[in-house]
Amino acid sequence: MSFIHSLKCRECGKEYPKEALHVCEYCFGPLEVAYDYEAIKKVLTKELIESREPNMWRYKELLPLEGSPTVGMQVGYTPLVKADNLAKAIGVKELYLKNDAVNFPTLSFKDRVVSVAMSRARELGFDVMACASTGNLANSVAANAAACGMDNFVFIPCDLEQTKITGTLVYGSKVVGIKGTYDEVNRLCSEIAGKYGWAFVNINLRPYYAEGSKSFGYEIAEQLGWKLPKHIVVPMAGGSLITKIWKAFKEFHDFGFVPDLDTKVYGAQATGCSPIVTAVKTGSELIKPVKPNTIAKSLAIGNPADGFYSARVMRDTGGWGEDASDPEIVSAIKLLAETEGVFAETAGGVTLGATIKLIESGRIPRDESIVISITGNGLKTQEALKGYLTDPPVINASLGDFDTLVKESGSKFTTKD
Ligand SMILES: *Cc1c(COP(=O)(O)O)cnc(C)c1O
Ligand SMILES: [Zn+2]
Repeated sequence: MSFIHSLKCRECGKEYPKEALHVCEYCFGPLEVAYDYEAIKKVLTKELIESREPNMWRYKELLPLEGSPTVGMQVGYTPLVKADNLAKAIGVKELYLKNDAVNFPTLSFKDRVVSVAMSRARELGFDVMACASTGNLANSVAANAAACGMDNFVFIPCDLEQTKITGTLVYGSKVVGIKGTYDEVNRLCSEIAGKYGWAFVNINLRPYYAEGSKSFGYEIAEQLGWKLPKHIVVPMAGGSLITKIWKAFKEFHDFGFVPDLDTKVYGAQATGCSPIVTAVKTGSELIKPVKPNTIAKSLAIGNPADGFYSARVMRDTGGWGEDASDPEIVSAIKLLAETEGVFAETAGGVTLGATIKLIESGRIPRDESIVISITGNGLKTQEALKGYLTDPPVINASLGDFDTLVKESGSKFTTKD
């Protein structure tokens, strides 16, 4: 049975049938999935959720499908790590990492949104899947389409990290590199979606796609013992994830699954592409598009579709926006790896880098619970560390050479006798 009521314009409230639609034809506002919450409340309980398999579909009543999911059955329920070493290093009391760097199957949170969008696209009868991507979405559409035997086209800016291109091609996806920024890729894809009638997961299926991000928020609440954190820091590209985490928290509070709803939500962007953070810092209602220039390519969206709504979440919850420069991103990636053994991609460096600045400026207090959202894996953006790590010494396979190395390095290690 389906709990999707309709699609509803976020601006004027006009309702639309639950099809592949994403823009209101009256006011051009974005459409959002509306649920029959009263019906969901009659069936969904904490105990029912806890009795289910550890993946994102344990919250399936709150995800926009009519039948059972057919894509990404094992996605989600990634670890929430209590990060005591990192907490000590940055001087806070209670710190957690929500670690989607190990999300199945393509090591980023995008597997959540793709599972929902592609399952829904199949329900609606589409036979070709597609996306406009900054990298991680490309990986996820390619892998999940391969796993369910669907034709798929992936459109990317041609200068993406080689690992993200390889990690798309390997699945046999039809990849098209575009000479231009993500925003130009996205504009082209809107035209292709109209002309070819394909399921672009983040364009014509966007209302369904975006709901998949709520599972990131549900899991945090459940993994904290059915509680919300006081502060959460979220990386922003198009600005969808941050709005959906907040929506997830509100829904769980409304269902009585968590006692309090007093989380402050903070958005993080790279300094070289920070249109949403700039709007928050300057108190502007308007998101001024920028031309991205940063190593955090997964977040390099200069004209963010949900910029306005994400700025509003930060403002309404009493959170804030912060950005991190490329050197700050790299040093945060290293700090996270050295303290917690977690290798995050550049977006993780952005999030931790911004978190450190929010703590140092007093925006986030040191004695309250903080969740840092780690959304992608560092093995995919190794180029970003070029020149920042020292190459290992190379010696002959000889004990004498090793002894010399130890001596010359001034190391604290001594021989047993
Ligand atoms: C896409 C992406 C984001 C941000 O997603 P939006 O919902 O577009 O804001 C964050 N982190 C990583 C690693 C991503 O790939
Ligand atoms: Zn409207």
